[in-house]
Amino acid sequence: MPGLDFLTYAVADDGRMPAIGARVVVPLGSRVVTGIALGEAAERGIDRAGIKPIRQILDDEAFIPAEVIELARWTAEYYAAGPGETLTAVLPPKTRGSRVDAHKTLRVAAISAAGLEAVASEPDLTAKQRELLQLLTGAPSGLPTPELAARGFAADTVRRLARRGYVNLRNDRVDRDPFGARHVPGTCLAPEAPKGPRRLTGEQTAALERLERLLDARAFKVALVHGVTGSGKTEIYVRLAQLVTAAGRSVLMLVPEIALTPAVAAIFRDTFGDRVAIQHSGLSDGERHDQWMRIRRGDVDVVVGTRSAVFAPLANIGLIIVDEEHDGSYKQEESPRYNGRDVAIVRAQRAGALVVLGSATPSLETYYRAVTGKYERVVLERRVLDRPLANVVIVDMREEFAALGPDAILSRTLEQSIHVRLERNEQSLVLLNRRGFATAVFCRQCAGTLDCPNCSVSLVVHGETSSRRARCHYCNYSARVPNACPLCAGPYLEQAGFGTERVEAELKAKYPGARIARLDRDSIRRKGALDQLLSRFRAGELDVLVGTQMIAKGHDFPRVTLVGVISADVGLGLADFRASERTFQLLTQVAGRAGRGEQPGEAIVQTLYPDHYSIQLACRQNYEAFFDRELQFRKAMRYPPLVSIINTVVRARTFSAAMDDAAEIVQRVRERAAPRGDIRVLGPAPAPLGRLRGEYRAQLLIKGTNRKQMREALQAAIAARADVARRTMVDVDPVSVL
Ligand code: ADP
Ligand code: ZN
Repeated sequence: MPGLDFLTYAVADDGRMPAIGARVVVPLGSRVVTGIALGEAAERGIDRAGIKPIRQILDDEAFIPAEVIELARWTAEYYAAGPGETLTAVLPPKTRGSRVDAHKTLRVAAISAAGLEAVASEPDLTAKQRELLQLLTGAPSGLPTPELAARGFAADTVRRLARRGYVNLRNDRVDRDPFGARHVPGTCLAPEAPKGPRRLTGEQTAALERLERLLDARAFKVALVHGVTGSGKTEIYVRLAQLVTAAGRSVLMLVPEIALTPAVAAIFRDTFGDRVAIQHSGLSDGERHDQWMRIRRGDVDVVVGTRSAVFAPLANIGLIIVDEEHDGSYKQEESPRYNGRDVAIVRAQRAGALVVLGSATPSLETYYRAVTGKYERVVLERRVLDRPLANVVIVDMREEFAALGPDAILSRTLEQSIHVRLERNEQSLVLLNRRGFATAVFCRQCAGTLDCPNCSVSLVVHGETSSRRARCHYCNYSARVPNACPLCAGPYLEQAGFGTERVEAELKAKYPGARIARLDRDSIRRKGALDQLLSRFRAGELDVLVGTQMIAKGHDFPRVTLVGVISADVGLGLADFRASERTFQLLTQVAGRAGRGEQPGEAIVQTLYPDHYSIQLACRQNYEAFFDRELQFRKAMRYPPLVSIINTVVRARTFSAAMDDAAEIVQRVRERAAPRGDIRVLGPAPAPLGRLRGEYRAQLLIKGTNRKQMREALQAAIAARADVARRTMVDVDPVSVL
């Protein structure tokens, strides 16, 4: 854990005091750096002799609003992180030092009058040229050339048409607008905008009225909107946000995934126009900076973003919405290990704002607080327009293996159902929450496996047959898949287990005419690839989309009538107390993607454990029963939400050093905690991921009901050994303990 990194400086000779949150230029060693003024140091105990003066104050007022600085300091303390690294997380990119260009130019192609004529009458056009002109006909103000490239039009095609006078090229000066071309007519990157104000359903109206009453109190409140998938929660958020902005206050909307930000932002843009900003890590530094400045200047009323947007410099917040509040991506898995949802609640508390937590599958923590009366609970039990929830079929894969052999990926039911969808021209989603082609390589002669040299995991095979590589999903080590076993030199290497790439290949082989694509972290590395995939799917240019949990969340694809789950069991075997909860959420969410349009939906869930309660209850979409069942388990095992936990992992060069250091911490925490209440320490034990990036890892788990006491006992125990402190990771309220 990094130590305290506040530094003390004297005010400059003119005696001017910087505002809290203002940027200051200060000497640091032999360098001069930009810092943020955090507050006045206490006079007592300061050695004045060593203190250097501030060189320059860059802002008259706070650059980072004081409220956000306070929030960052709370976050640092609560999550036992360094204040410096926490503050860095709330700064806009590139504000330290380097200047950022506020503008860039964009090359735009638009159809000319001659071009319009040519589409109708000119026979001497290639198919591609004609296609491009037709696309441009639908976008009279033009389309940016990078977007044309993304849609498969070569630069040369554009140039040739320009030379013939059918297309005009121009350079537009643009604010780096991350919404980009999404609102150019003729493109279909955004979901179809709702056509005029629609009538809310009875349930929506009732929900909105209750939330409105909570707003009227103008005081801190938390409401859980527990609505089944497709119950129209987004519509409620937008209306509520309108009420808040009309009353002169601002709205912060958090979404879990980058994949969801453009869609949600587009919906908000339809209502709030330019007064929306977006913030997420998928934007370039420049775009993020521009958006941050717009918020800071007060040019927007609504901010839509992923977890770090909780620190957006938005003033006068009246409402914070956390959509899909149960989602694990709200938790940052590096220091500061904060949960955006929980920081949002603290921010709202300080701002006297209403928090709306939305989910079809609330986290156990949130639901527990709702049933114990800490949170208001607003329920939506039905889908809009009385669309039925998808009919879910569980397929026992043991029977399929018996019938089709052990290599079967698609059950007969799923294979047939996809086939029917293709014939009917309807779309299917196919989920497998595991990336790669094969998940292990093993030797049939010596039973050795191809493992990462740095981590205690097996390598995952990726890529086309010709360029196949084995990669570590943790440290990114990669190597060619060898022809012989590296251990015994035997030639019998076999690939086992399968991931999304293999499913994609299997589907392409089974349905040669179908348009099939894959959506996972590997397939969206290139900037813009994600938007492009989603928009192609939405526009009906794809029949089947295979992917990881990224396809399960939030998306509204009206043409999807089938969801196939290749293996519901992927997360169940993990040694994590949230394994069942996560499985339940993922299955419920993905099943919720089917049947959101006119046609009813069906979900087919393949599993080896058809009787497992999280699979059974997800398929019946019975959240309450799942909650009751899971809560019993958490009670019996003393896990959240009944107690809090702090996960601690100590890294060292050898296994025994890691275990010894962890044992010492355990001992000290026990000594400090003994007289105080109900703190219990489990461990030390080898961490489930016992070796990572060349280091061994030992784990201890602190359980109790008083987080502050738990944290203080741990921090004191660690502080006793500065060398161990540097190798220790502390995770307060962990989402995963792996
Ligand atoms: P949820 O977030 O609860 O899963 P969405 O907000 O995505 O559901 O809504 C599901 C679908 O229903 C969307 O296509 C949305 O545009 C549509 N919808 C929402 N409210 C209404 C309404 N009152 N009338 C008609 N369609 C609606
Ligand atoms: Zn590795």
